[in-house]
Amino acid sequence: MARLTDNARAVLARRYLLRDDAGAVLEEPEGLWRRVATALAAAEEPGERSRWAERFEARMAGLELLPNSPTLMNAGRAGGQLAACFVLPVDDDLASIFDALKWAALIHQSGGGTGFSFSRLRPKGDLVRTTHGVASGPVSFIRVFDAATETIKQGGVRRGANMAVLGVEHPDVLEFVDAKRGPGLENFNISVAASDAFMRAAQRGEPFALRHPRSGAPAVEVSARELLDRIAGAAWASGEPGLVFLDRVEAANPTPDLARFEAVNPCGEQPLLPFEACTLGSINLGRFARGGAVDWDGLAACVRDGVRLLDDVLTVNVWPLPQIAAVSARNRKIGLGVMGWADLLVQLGVAYDAPAALALADELMGFVQREAHAASEALAAERGPFPGFATSALARAGGRPRRNATVTTIAPTGTLSVIAGCSSGVEPLFAVAYVRHALGGVSLEEEHPELLGRLRALGAEAALPRLLANGRARGVPGVPEEIQRVFATAHDVAPEVHVRMQAAFQRHVDNGVSKTINLPREATVESVRRAYELAFELGCKGITVYRDGTREGQVLTHGVAA
Ligand code: ADP
Repeated sequence: MARLTDNARAVLARRYLLRDDAGAVLEEPEGLWRRVATALAAAEEPGERSRWAERFEARMAGLELLPNSPTLMNAGRAGGQLAACFVLPVDDDLASIFDALKWAALIHQSGGGTGFSFSRLRPKGDLVRTTHGVASGPVSFIRVFDAATETIKQGGVRRGANMAVLGVEHPDVLEFVDAKRGPGLENFNISVAASDAFMRAAQRGEPFALRHPRSGAPAVEVSARELLDRIAGAAWASGEPGLVFLDRVEAANPTPDLARFEAVNPCGEQPLLPFEACTLGSINLGRFARGGAVDWDGLAACVRDGVRLLDDVLTVNVWPLPQIAAVSARNRKIGLGVMGWADLLVQLGVAYDAPAALALADELMGFVQREAHAASEALAAERGPFPGFATSALARAGGRPRRNATVTTIAPTGTLSVIAGCSSGVEPLFAVAYVRHALGGVSLEEEHPELLGRLRALGAEAALPRLLANGRARGVPGVPEEIQRVFATAHDVAPEVHVRMQAAFQRHVDNGVSKTINLPREATVESVRRAYELAFELGCKGITVYRDGTREGQVLTHGVAA
């Protein structure tokens, strides 16, 4: 069993370990791995269950592979809902709007996050025929959803997370773009769904028509360039909205015969059809370095176990709604991804912002994707393909049957990376030392253990206080050059390299890639727009930027507190 950090133990004790009715913790982390493994292996043939339970337990206890938080929290418990990501449809009528709100509350209670498109709602000021009143528009309803999430927050296993998507052609798009400049919408991430036509019009400086969502009639014409700048300006100021390139997302829809994509999950990495859910899991890449090289065989074996484990999650999951159960049973989407990418690079001695890192991202994720698809094909041979396969885009393209309509996603791994004690997702090290403000006001100090050891070995400890204060190695006098190079932090990496890294992983992922494009505090609105254009050009499915210091109470801040 791999050693858990103190932070990992604190996080597990707070939210993940089973408790009795009085709130006393009932299990140790060892018990958690066993509970989850045993619950998932119930999907296996009776004679095989103990074998698979042992294998899954070893993967989790070794911190090599972790399923998403709801699986760790709820597997083996009554009514165990195990998936992290959901999308619910919102139609242009009150009953539909409040059905979605009710369902979202139930999903939040189980630890899942919900995404919605509000693009079908009539714009503000439009007529409401039944009451002869005037519609209040999508943003007003998003605020209702936010207030409801705020109110029920204490009851669930963790605070609810939502994503609101609005099409760039919606007449209320400007109100939406600026919705997070002020206070409010704390429980929402927001993203503008930017069509290819819009992005091209912005590039060419052409006009763009906002359209009434019901009639499709043009409401008003705007400058696409100005609108994109307005989006960039809001993201510059507050980190939101993000952009989702929805046409591109739709082009990769494996089951267009069932429905079109209109929204993504809260952190944006998982496009889903209405009433669809997805279960995520992440491989800790830092565990697959041996003697300064990638342990490809070890990684391949872990990918195979990961695909099987996530397919088992689908089988034993208790879905929160019959509609969701139906779509999920038909498509069986899973999203296996990676975390600890920056840790792996440190072990290989490759700087995150070196061309070799981009090349390795392509090679490594291409490998994971091939192995994951092969594993899903093997499962299809054993258990049958996903029921929607026959009419899927995959079948039409002559592909081999798979067990799962999608197999790979790169999640943010916000909590999983703390549990595994690794760098999150495919992000660079955020800092070599930082304070994490999370978990209801608790602050955790974290330092990169490897870095301190290396500094000591090189006799460069004198640089330590400065390095800790700065939170980064680069630019600190007395830190050996090799260490400055390899320990690249999020703010050492140029925005363009962030985008290129996202694009390199996206090329080999069925779903999306969670990635924050970090910008220095002094970055301009213009540089945000350039990042958008590069992300679009390189084939990313969306983009989220974050300029340092723009959000109060941001989760991570540089440097360890004095
Ligand atoms: P974790 O590390 O806890 O497994 P991630 O940070 O990888 O989770 O997020 C994966 C997905 O889980 C998100 O995109 C979102 O759909 C869902 N999610 C994350 N945080 C929350 C939350 N607080 N409440 C509900 N869902 C969440």
